[in-house]
Amino acid sequence: MNKKFILACSLPDCSLELRGLTNRAATLSTPPNKLQLPRISDAVAASLERRILEGSLKPGDRLPPERELAADLGVSRPSLREAIQKLASKGMVQTRQGGGTYITDRLESTFFDPWQALMGAHPNLREDLLEFRRMLEGQAAEWAAERATEADLTRLTQAFETMNQAFDGDDLDRRSGADIAFHQAIGEATHNVLVGHLSAALLRLAQDNIRLNLGELKDIPAASSLLRSQHAAIHVAICEHKPAAARAAAETHIDFVRETLAQTLRSAARRESAARRLHTDFSEPFSS
Ligand SMILES: [Zn+2]
Repeated sequence: MNKKFILACSLPDCSLELRGLTNRAATLSTPPNKLQLPRISDAVAASLERRILEGSLKPGDRLPPERELAADLGVSRPSLREAIQKLASKGMVQTRQGGGTYITDRLESTFFDPWQALMGAHPNLREDLLEFRRMLEGQAAEWAAERATEADLTRLTQAFETMNQAFDGDDLDRRSGADIAFHQAIGEATHNVLVGHLSAALLRLAQDNIRLNLGELKDIPAASSLLRSQHAAIHVAICEHKPAAARAAAETHIDFVRETLAQTLRSAARRESAARRLHTDFSEPFSS
């Protein structure tokens, strides 16, 4: 990983916030002539935390070695170590045996785990999930079209191209992984931390459905090209900063997925009842 960490610019705004002091509280509680200086480790922890929230450090990413990171941040190694311990106690990072500190998926998994268990037991939740995704992804596409920076658009375009390559082949895991990465890049381009992390958690939740849908659809050339053109419409609208078009394209995409899921479930139900009838017909001569 070769990410540059710039701490200096983040120091002034996080120091008071971190210590839980407003200006007024600071005036009341600080004796005259005594400056309340922020602890370096608090500022380092806040800086790393912000990177996790904005998605520039992602679950599974390894932090650079201590010596390198301390030099990048311009702080001492003990201060950095203290900051990492603070993040570890919140469950945001984890130091693995054999070395290396990694970003955990705590922000997603605390939401994801209980819902995934419920999803398996209550299939009707899938429809609710898709309805919710329609709202969230429509809004995400609209905000992304309004707010995406050049860097966001570069990442979105990379994700879009990787997805198109995946759709050229028929590896379902690769297809669904690339599809999810594309939608996640849109979530991150909203510059709303909750949208970014919630849509990542919902996409993980929907992953089984996405794979199921792609599996059902992969042998139908028209469906595959429809999915491609839906993704392309979302991509173009965001790149051209057209919020209404981006929202409409994202909603059309989810509507298509909802409809195909409904059809899949209907045809599965028909197959099951046909199989039951077949069994009954064969058993009748013997029972009468
Ligand atoms: Zn998609």
